[in-house]
Order: sequence, then C-alpha cells, then structure tokens
Amino acid sequence: MEKLAINGGYPVREGQLGYGHQYIDDDDVKAVSDVLTSSFITTGPKVDELERELERYTGSRYAVVVSSGTAALHCACIAIGLAEGDEVITTPFTFAASANCVLYCGARPVFADIDPETYNIDPEKIREKITDRTKAIIAVDYAGQSVRNDEIRNICDEFGLVFIEDAAHAIATEYKGKKVGNIADITIFSFHPVKTITGGEGGAILTNNSDYYKKALNARSHGIVHLLEDMENKEPEGPWYYEMISLGYNYRITDFQAALVLSQMKKLFWFRKRRQEIVKYYDEEFSEMDEIISQKEIPESDSCRHLYTIRLNPDKLNCTRREFFDALVAENIVCQIHYIPIYWFPYYQRMGYEMGQCPNAEYVYKNIMSIPLYPALKDQDIKDVVHAVKKVVENYRK
Ligand SMILES: *Cc1c(COP(=O)(O)O)cnc(C)c1O
Repeated sequence: MEKLAINGGYPVREGQLGYGHQYIDDDDVKAVSDVLTSSFITTGPKVDELERELERYTGSRYAVVVSSGTAALHCACIAIGLAEGDEVITTPFTFAASANCVLYCGARPVFADIDPETYNIDPEKIREKITDRTKAIIAVDYAGQSVRNDEIRNICDEFGLVFIEDAAHAIATEYKGKKVGNIADITIFSFHPVKTITGGEGGAILTNNSDYYKKALNARSHGIVHLLEDMENKEPEGPWYYEMISLGYNYRITDFQAALVLSQMKKLFWFRKRRQEIVKYYDEEFSEMDEIISQKEIPESDSCRHLYTIRLNPDKLNCTRREFFDALVAENIVCQIHYIPIYWFPYYQRMGYEMGQCPNAEYVYKNIMSIPLYPALKDQDIKDVVHAVKKVVENYRK
C-alpha cells in the first residue's frame, strides 16, 4: 500500500489541483481589451449582444444581464413582486445567495429537504412546506444536474406559485432535450469564475414573461425608465427627461465583462463536452468502489456538470470526512465542500431556523467533498485525482 502524503509519503503529484478553475484564452483577452479601448465600457453594445445571444442559446424570449448571479436572484424576486409576509420554498443544500435573495425582499425562505441520491430538492418535500403564504419555489440545479422540472411545474400550477430556477451551476444543461433557461418561469445564471463560463463576475435572468422582464430590467438600473411608454408623466419637459418609477439598484455589468462572457460562450460547446467526459471517467472509476458514492443522475437530465462530488460511505471507511479531506489535500488534490446547509449559519440560526429540519441535506453535507472538475484538466490530471482518491480509500478501508 502507498504511504499517504499526510503520513510522510510522496503526494501523487507535484502541483496542486483545485476543485474548479476558469479557462481564459487569447480570444477572451482580445475580446476584453477591444472593449476597453472602445467608447463604451459599461452597458454598451456588448451587454445587448450578450442578452440576444443568451436568448438565442436558451430559446428563452428575454434575457437581462446583471452584475452577478446574486443580483440576478434579487432581480427575479423583485420581478415577481416578492414582499414581506411571503414565503419562498428552496433547498438548504446550496450557496447562501439562493435563500438570501428572499430575505432582501423582506420575505421568508422555507427549506425543503433534498433527495439523498441526486442532492436536488425533493418535490414531495416541497409539498409538505406549502402554506397560504407561499409565493414561489427557488429550485437549484445542484452541481449542474437539472431539478425534476415536470414535478415542480405541476406543484406550481396546482398551488399558483412562481417557479424560479437557480441555474448558477447549470448553463448548457438540458432537461428532456430542452435547455435550462427556457423551462422555469424565471431562470438565473452566474458568471463567477468557478462556474461553467465567466465574466469575472456577472449573472443573467431569463424569462418568457414580458412583465417579469420589464421589472428585472428596471431593478437593474435604479428603477429609472427612458421610454415615454414606460413613464407616468406623458408630457416630458424635454429630451433630458427620465423617470424613476420604482426603487431599483445598480446591478449593471460592464461592457468588457459582457464581452468576456460572449467570448466564453463560443467555447461552451467544448466546455460542456470536456466536463461530460471527465464526469464519465470519474463515474466509471468510482463505480468499482463501495467506499465512494457518486451523485445519482435522473435520466431526464443531460447535465453539464459544474461540480463533481464524491460521498464517503461511512460503513466502509474507518476515517472521518475531515481525515479523508485532509489526506486528499496533502496529495495536492484541493477539495471543497458544497454545501453547508444554509440554516446552519449563525445568521439563520439567530432567525430561529431549527437544526435537523432537513436530515438528508445534513447527512449528505457531512459525507461529501467536491473534487477537481473543469475543462482545462488534462487526462493526466484526472488520472492523478482518481489515483489520489483510490490511495486514500485503500489506507482507510475498513
Ligand atoms: C454561485 C452561485 C450563486 C451566486 O452567484 P454569484 O455570481 O457568485 O453572485 C447563486 N446560486 C448558486 C447555486 C451558486 O452556486
């Protein structure tokens, strides 16, 4: 048996591999620098071009590009008129922003547990949480796997709820052959560097509903309108006149960030292909090991995965998750944990959210870790990852 690096042995590789990394090439650099030397550096032609490209790519009628995925979630909540007294059902097994956007509007996030195999929100658990205050569902495509869209759509139709899909992980994922971004009432994407395509920062709102579209657009830039048709005063004093019709924000994205996202979209086809190849390789390698459980995928989802998480089988290993994690990092495979259940955070605890309310999310959290997954990984890199996981498993096998 190979001696673990954490016990003084040699690591499987020299350089560290992180769990995610952006891919930026010369075309991306040129796209950004071309904008920097043009006359518009914020909200210019590239923002418009990116919106039209996202509409074309997803098949959705409207896109609004904003400064981050979090801003996109906030704009989505504003667009549906979310307010104090409302409740929104979401998963606790996600990044904090998926629930924080509800708090921004003075409403209350309610957590429904996940499916313990797919890690996505369980539609049956959503039903149990519906009250007469429930206004919307924010479902998250965890790690890039589509949620059970049909089941969630049925629940929304039955109870008159709005379906918001947090697809920060899931651009280029399809559900039953349809692109994520054109399924829920509103979908959001993130262009943070660890996500599938990046603008440094950035996000987008996709919808087929013209009312949601107008409200999201308005929220992006101070609640100000410039078109006569949108104004309350139909006899403006002069050409300088504009109106603020609601309380908006500055959630604008720069034109050079939009140019970067556009340039990245040209590579989305191979990003998706490479991510799928790596996922397939990991799935095959780990399927032989009882100690490691991979995320289960529903057949309806053709996923472009953002994360690859391995789940430890505590019946087969005599180490803690912490020991396994530290051993992998010592082998230069730098993992991360996605995610700490949101209601565990002190801020949520102070609001009175009960511990233990979503046992599946808590169980999965305690046993998982995300290993490297990004298109720039070489074949040797992914072999090193598997080698390291196998080495750690062998050392801790019961
Ligand atoms: C990254 C992420 C967000 C927030 O996106 P930002 O662009 O970082 O603001 C929201 N939801 C999920 C699930 C995410 O992973």
